[in-house]
Amino acid sequence: MGDMTFFSDFSNYRYRATLVPMVNIGWLGAGRSFPTGPVPTDVIEKLMLLTEDLHNIMRGVHDCEFCQEESPIRLAAKVPRGYVSLGMGELHRIDVDETIFTAPSLVIHYIIQHNYQPPENFIRAVREGRPCDGRCGNEE
Ligand SMILES: [Zn+2]
Repeated sequence: MGDMTFFSDFSNYRYRATLVPMVNIGWLGAGRSFPTGPVPTDVIEKLMLLTEDLHNIMRGVHDCEFCQEESPIRLAAKVPRGYVSLGMGELHRIDVDETIFTAPSLVIHYIIQHNYQPPENFIRAVREGRPCDGRCGNEE
């Protein structure tokens, strides 16, 4: 079990030291309500690809606080390995307006299993934005 964390959508990222300001998305926690609704398949597939470029990799594994899914959570995905493991790092994405979003990789599980609907701006960033170029996070 990793340490539990909750940050509301669009709050400022303070979980780790960071070189540039980042904005939290999808840091859900037990007992906290969150928006639900459909998320387009292309967005989910892009998020799975982003797990190939994980940031702020954690020592432990973050488990879902809403279910008893086996840890770490694995999902079949169209990536070279054939699956993705979730709960071990962050997905970073720079929006077209230069906002840098950070979401736990578990966001994919929250979307698929718990019907979480990320904000429209984040969906835009996933679709039309660009990868983190090394300025985000605490990478050396
Ligand atoms: Zn779950």
